Amino acid sequence: MLGEGIIQGLVETARNFFGSYVDKDRLTTVQYPEERQPLPEAARVFPFLLYDGDDPVAGLRCVACQICEKECPPRCIHIDKSKDKKPDFVGKQQFYPAVFNIDVSVCMSCQICVEVCPFDAIRMDNAFELSTTDRFGGLLYTKRELAKSNEYYQQIHPTEAAECDERRAKELADAKAKAAAAAAAAKAAQAANPAAAPESATQASKNGAAAPAPSANGSATGAKGEPAKSETKVGQ
Ligand code: SF4
Ligand code: SF4
Repeated sequence: MLGEGIIQGLVETARNFFGSYVDKDRLTTVQYPEERQPLPEAARVFPFLLYDGDDPVAGLRCVACQICEKECPPRCIHIDKSKDKKPDFVGKQQFYPAVFNIDVSVCMSCQICVEVCPFDAIRMDNAFELSTTDRFGGLLYTKRELAKSNEYYQQIHPTEAAECDERRAKELADAKAKAAAAAAAAKAAQAANPAAAPESATQASKNGAAAPAPSANGSATGAKGEPAKSETKVGQ
């Protein structure tokens, strides 16, 4: 029948209108901003940078590899890589962002930066009350404004954060196992040939759990604090 859909819509509206006086579930609106509906877990607005520990800047997971900067369609990410390096959560020496800015007035919330980040360093926030009268400075977020803790991430995206924590815990356990194996191999080499291997044994014990993974022949790759080749490429 012509107009049947319109009539059904009006009937549903009327049911909700009158029904809301007796049934709270039929209330489809809330008195925002005093009342708020919980956001779904998948809600996303603009990206933020994750940090570990207590220091939002020193604890940033970002290694300034600039993949997100290159992949961002509207080019609203700007990163300047540091000159020096600092250890990441498994003890590998990595660059860090001296500058990390996102112009959220240009960002289109596509989440591509999150998808391409190999270091679980950037995630989508669900904060949306960001209006400002300063069109330029007010919407250009620096790394200090972008930095948010892992606890915050666990609150807004609990399922995703749990998967991420599990993956990182495994990576850390693997790194520790490799470091222990490297130390044991160096010790064995020293025991077998005390004159030839003291340097490598000393170095392995100095590096401890933070030592990089051993190579196939048992020597510790990057035992002098240098990153493995693959790391260097990513951070270039
Ligand atoms: S969400 Fe999309 S547009 Fe926004 S910073 Fe990330 S890649 Fe760029
Ligand atoms: S892809 Fe990840 S680690 Fe690389 S610069 Fe972007 S946020 Fe940092």
